[in-house]
Amino acid sequence: MIEFNEDERLVAPEFNSLDAEDNENSLRPKVLADYVGQEKVKENLKIFIEAAKLRGESLDHVLLYGPPGLGKTTLAGIIANELGVQIRVTSGPAIEKPGDLAALLTNLNEGDILFIDEIHRLSRQVEEVLYPAMEDFALDIIIGKGPAARSIRLDLPRFTLIGATTRAGQLSAPLRDRFGCVFRLELYSPEELGRIVTRSAGILNIGIDDAGAIEIASRSRGTPRIANRLLKRTRDFATVLGEGVIDEYNAMQALNRMEIDELGLDNIDRLMLTAMIRNYNGGPVGLETIAASIGEEAITIEDVYEPYLMQIGFLARTPRGRVTTLAAYRHLEIDPPTSMDELGFEQTSF
Ligand code: ADP
Repeated sequence: MIEFNEDERLVAPEFNSLDAEDNENSLRPKVLADYVGQEKVKENLKIFIEAAKLRGESLDHVLLYGPPGLGKTTLAGIIANELGVQIRVTSGPAIEKPGDLAALLTNLNEGDILFIDEIHRLSRQVEEVLYPAMEDFALDIIIGKGPAARSIRLDLPRFTLIGATTRAGQLSAPLRDRFGCVFRLELYSPEELGRIVTRSAGILNIGIDDAGAIEIASRSRGTPRIANRLLKRTRDFATVLGEGVIDEYNAMQALNRMEIDELGLDNIDRLMLTAMIRNYNGGPVGLETIAASIGEEAITIEDVYEPYLMQIGFLARTPRGRVTTLAAYRHLEIDPPTSMDELGFEQTSF
């Protein structure tokens, strides 16, 4: 069985060791004007930020959701910067006890931002502390035990909570309702990713032309984090094999060598689709079965591999399991069964 290391997968959308090499932070835009794409989100945010500044008030709580690597953390930093306030960064799993959250909240200054990544992973008890904090800027603390216990209310500075999540559906309704602004981030177009690649190349002092940037962008699965990572890897190839400047030809060469195809699929994606086609006639096949056949965990497949394959129409969910579509057969150059209709479904499946 092939060993997959998610921490070194070039096209994984989550932060991994490849991004840590040269500090991902250097590539994060600091102001809204440098943040590429997500036009609707930017337009609205600009107005909310301006209004908060004019009124001299803190910004309403903001929820950002969308797949990993699309710029949620970056946007939180930009909001703080544009407002001229401090930002404290933490994550759902890092806040273990209500006391941890209380410590964070009481250390904020008026107007500051508390950024909680993976906010869907907060425990129930911690969430309960967050409700009055978000709504009334107050902490309810219980002092003492048993019949002698009493609750005191502590005032907090008027802060802004920015929550980020990849799974908005997993957020409890009371928490979701307490966010005044909710923004969904979308996958980026190749043209937008091309602009991000060109900008990052400038910061990292990498020579690249427009065609080279678009070649990298179109294989980056709509995700800036992947685009930046592929840029760095392509630079290595260009340095060794070419003149040091990335053009369309050496970008293609480099990405082909990394086995990332023109749609951004790597060998794990191809292996998974091929296994479904060869072993299960393209499906329907259950998630657990797919997981077992390629030696991955079901949750990883669901969170990491599937979203993009569904987005490009190679995989579909049906009540009876996952199915591969005609487009996937074509891409893998495997003859589809004659019973497959144009949408790629077995006509006998339903
Ligand atoms: P998330 O928090 O959604 O997982 P991040 O904010 O950490 O994603 O973004 C990952 C990387 O992608 C950052 O290093 C940043 O440089 C880059 N990035 C994300 N969105 C943009 C954007 N709109 N413009 C330019 N670069 C971006």
